[in-house]
Amino acid sequence: TRVETVVPYYLRFLDAFDSVEALAAASIDEVLKLWEGLGYYRRARSLHEAAKLIASERNGRFPRTVEQWLQLPGVGRYTAGAIASIAFGAAAAVLDGNVKRVLARLTALDKPIDAPAVVADLWAAAEALVTAYRPGDFNQAMMELGARICTPRSPLCDECPVRRSCSAFARGRQGELPLAKARRATPHHEIVAAAIVSGGRYLLGRRPVDAMLGGLWEFPGGKVEPGETHAAALEREITEELGVGCSVGALLGSVDHAYSHFSITLHLYRCEIVAGPPAAQWHTQIKWIRREQFDRYAFPGANRKLFAACQL
Ligand code: SF4
Repeated sequence: TRVETVVPYYLRFLDAFDSVEALAAASIDEVLKLWEGLGYYRRARSLHEAAKLIASERNGRFPRTVEQWLQLPGVGRYTAGAIASIAFGAAAAVLDGNVKRVLARLTALDKPIDAPAVVADLWAAAEALVTAYRPGDFNQAMMELGARICTPRSPLCDECPVRRSCSAFARGRQGELPLAKARRATPHHEIVAAAIVSGGRYLLGRRPVDAMLGGLWEFPGGKVEPGETHAAALEREITEELGVGCSVGALLGSVDHAYSHFSITLHLYRCEIVAGPPAAQWHTQIKWIRREQFDRYAFPGANRKLFAACQL
């Protein structure tokens, strides 16, 4: 996620939660609402869980070493190394996409940088470079070098402070390195969702915490299977998710949305329940909510794009 995107979220987050105890005491709904639109909602849930652990089990004291940070939910080797080195001066390495590219070019590495064995070698190379002398500054410099000078396309070698040590530059290979694995085509899914309205309220469901987009609210529905019509898919999904039959009416709107590993087109249909009271079969909770109250809840981006179609 780009820094420019994160900054306003970060500032709002610090306004709302000015200490780890304040974040720990917040509800997950408050946290998800402040995170809404940023994607990667598992990170919000992990951050909240980590705050609760720090507040309750460590009396509000932050871990200092990589090993201690790795014990917290959602913290991997990169995050642990970044925090331990930048915040606490530990001689720990970081390896993100930028650092991988810089290291691959410095060493003129002729292997795809995403292969697991190569990643292990790159971690070893990063660890060999970082020392007790300003490790946080060193790591930030490596990341900035990759972000600003040693860019994926057309690296600015003439401005590069390490070009005398760079094997790719010496061999004129900076344009062809690093090698990347062949990318698979991004899958696309057709998703149908139901606008079920009663007494001016929409029936919404809350996604299970361990699902993708966990904890967010949505219009019920799901993926169209191969060979299914939209109406058949929606009738099946509503029965599976709410335990009721439904009739599918007019299409209210369709939007495209891209996630990191796939894209979707989400179609919202007006639907009527024809048999039985609805109950949460897959969602952790369902609720009838007025359109003007939608802003109090956190929704996935694709659902939010369809709010304009909800004029009932
Ligand atoms: Fe990257 Fe060029 Fe610097 Fe080498 S000399 S590290 S390829 S910017």
